[in-house]
Amino acid sequence: MFRPGPTVRLSAHLRRALATHVASPTPSPTRHSWSKQDIQKIYDSPLLDLVFRAASIHREHHDPSKIQLCTLMNIKTGGCSEDCSYCSQSSRYSTPTKASRLVDIEPVLEAARKAKENGSTRFCMGAAWRDLSGRKRGFERILTMVREIRGMGMEVCTTLGMLSPEQARQLKEAGLTAYNHNLDTSREYYPEVSHRGSSVITTRSYDERLDTISAVRDAGISVCSGGILGLGETDKDRVGLIWEVANMPEHPESFPVNALVPIKGTPLENNEPVPYQTILRTISTARIVLPRTIIRLAAGRQTLDETQQAMCFMAGANAVFTGEQMLTTPCSPWDEDKAMMGRWGLEGMGSFEQADVARKEGARLAVQAGVRSPTAPTDASKEDERNVV
Ligand code: SF4
Repeated sequence: MFRPGPTVRLSAHLRRALATHVASPTPSPTRHSWSKQDIQKIYDSPLLDLVFRAASIHREHHDPSKIQLCTLMNIKTGGCSEDCSYCSQSSRYSTPTKASRLVDIEPVLEAARKAKENGSTRFCMGAAWRDLSGRKRGFERILTMVREIRGMGMEVCTTLGMLSPEQARQLKEAGLTAYNHNLDTSREYYPEVSHRGSSVITTRSYDERLDTISAVRDAGISVCSGGILGLGETDKDRVGLIWEVANMPEHPESFPVNALVPIKGTPLENNEPVPYQTILRTISTARIVLPRTIIRLAAGRQTLDETQQAMCFMAGANAVFTGEQMLTTPCSPWDEDKAMMGRWGLEGMGSFEQADVARKEGARLAVQAGVRSPTAPTDASKEDERNVV
């Protein structure tokens, strides 16, 4: 890195520019009392100014050279009773996705080992169903998967539909690091009639989603909750989604930004792709409003070229899914992602490198060891709430 000697005088402008490239000793505070107007103002700012500001905040809170590599596995595919209008796994739509039973433990462990060998530090398992009711044996199998994969030193995430507080507690005890439950879009757009006369989802309410997120958070599991762009929503809805998570008592540790991949047979099969600038704007706004959160460039990443992805990483996206397959859409393979990251000076993040995830894991290990953790979770709502707009 270039270090000016004592005789080199930098202009104020250059000093400001260089200051965005190093972690600040006093990062901007995390705020939990956002108004929609505040967030809209950020979202509407000129795009390159927005990216610059997001990149600066990213560098205060994260190592900008690190990208979390996650691998996703569908452990129970298709046949789902829910009617999510974007999903090929719903039994209500005629799609190429075929229903299957919950997979056995060993193939999942094999896939996790392979993911680890290839540099992934988080392994996520998804099951296509509404919830775990009536699935006692299946849940026990999943708890074993979680225990075994956590034992490999990986972060473990699941997405299993709605959870009760007791189920969340059992998952935590088994070693679950994170639970994914997306809000999808704003509260206002969620029930609204969209293309072809169907809602985004009718079988699960927004509040039921928030209840599952609360159960996960209360169990001490990291929350992964974000949305999908391209459902037919407006800028106001994208702001509404960010507002919803920004005002939670703790910001989610992970915020996935998915771009709809329209699937034939689903009600949204003919949706227009969301413009790249909208994806970049959403990522940048989320980075500013949720400064400590991992922003996950999720489904639809394959539609972006390398330079577009790099711009997203610049603006604060710091996690990707990599491997063989997303839940139902294609994924970039490890070797391609590693080569891309090398070209842009990026490298994989270690397990439990994110401070908030590490804190929750520390608390879990301390409880298991029978000691009170000095790093027990803090009440994020008590953090500094100075206006950072
Ligand atoms: S998104 Fe999940 S809950 Fe909705 S239909 Fe697909 S598998 Fe079922």
